[in-house]
Amino acid sequence: MDPILVEYDAGITCVDAMYVQPGHACCYLMVENGRAAFIDTGTGHSVPYLLETIKLKNLNVEDVDYVIPTHVHLDHAGGAGLLMSKLPNAKLVIHPRGAPHMIDPEKLVAGTIAVYGEEKFKQYYGEIIPIEEQRVTVAEDEHEIQLANRTLKFLDAPGHARHHFCVYDKTSNGFFTGDTFGLSYKELDNEDGAFILPTTTPVQFEPDAWQNTLTRMLDYQPKNMYLTHFGCVTEIDRLTAQLREGIDEYANIAKSCMNSENREQKIKEKITENLKTKLRERYPENEVVTFIELFKSDIDLNAAGLEVWVKRLDKVA
Ligand SMILES: [Zn+2]
Repeated sequence: MDPILVEYDAGITCVDAMYVQPGHACCYLMVENGRAAFIDTGTGHSVPYLLETIKLKNLNVEDVDYVIPTHVHLDHAGGAGLLMSKLPNAKLVIHPRGAPHMIDPEKLVAGTIAVYGEEKFKQYYGEIIPIEEQRVTVAEDEHEIQLANRTLKFLDAPGHARHHFCVYDKTSNGFFTGDTFGLSYKELDNEDGAFILPTTTPVQFEPDAWQNTLTRMLDYQPKNMYLTHFGCVTEIDRLTAQLREGIDEYANIAKSCMNSENREQKIKEKITENLKTKLRERYPENEVVTFIELFKSDIDLNAAGLEVWVKRLDKVA
C-alpha cells in the first residue's frame, strides 16, 4: 500500500486519503524536530496509508503527538479512532462541539447514514471506533498547542459546520482549512490557476458565519491554504473572492427556490447551471462535461445542504 504523497515546505506532507478516488480527499502530516501531527485522518480505509507515511519519514508511531480532525464529518474524522488506537502517545485535538461525537460516535454514524445511506456508509467509512475521553483535548477558539517548538493555533470556523475549526501554522504561514476554504480539485488547475467551489454539505451551512470566518482567517495574511479537498492553494485573494461569491450565490439560489415544488431538485438544477457557467469561462466544453461528472457527488451534497438550510429559514419566517 504505497501512499500517494505531495511534499510541501515546512515539514508538511499531503497524504492522499484514497477516499472515493485518488485526488478527492487528503490528510496532512506535519513534522517538527522529530515530532509529528496528523491534520485530518480520512476514513478507516485511509489509516494504513497514514501509518505507511510515518514509516517512510523514518518516524515511529510513538513520535506522533497529535491527531487533529478539522471537524467531525467522516471524510475528515472517520479514521480518527482507528488511527489513535495505533498511536500510543497521540492526543486527539478537536472542536468542543465535535468532542462528544468522537468519544461516542453513535449519533454521528446515524447522521451520516441519514445523508449517504447505509450501503455507501459501509463502502466509504467502515467501522467508527470511539476514542477514550482522557485522550481528547478540546480546542476552544484561539487555543494553542506546541508541536516541538512549533505553535498551532485553532480558530473556531463556523460556516461549513459548527463543529469546524481551522488550524493556523505560523511556520508555514498557512491554514489547514478542512472544508472552510471550499473544494479545489487539482484536475481543474490550469494557466488561470486553481478553481474553488464552496461545500455546503448537510446540516450546518451558515453563509453569514462562513463569511465572518473567512474575514478572521484573512486577518492572519496567510500565504498558503491547505485544503482537505485537495492540497495546498496560494493566490489567496483571488480564491477568497471566488469562494465568497460562490457562498453568496448558493445562498441566493437556495432562497430563490424557497417556494418551489421539488425544492431540492430545483436547487440542484440551479447550482449545476451555476457551476457550468463558471466552468465554461475557463475550460472547453468537453472538459466542462468531465468536471461536472467529477463534481457529481459534491453537487448532490451541496443541494442537500442548501435544502436543509432553506428549510430552516422557511420555518423561522
Ligand atoms: Zn470534507
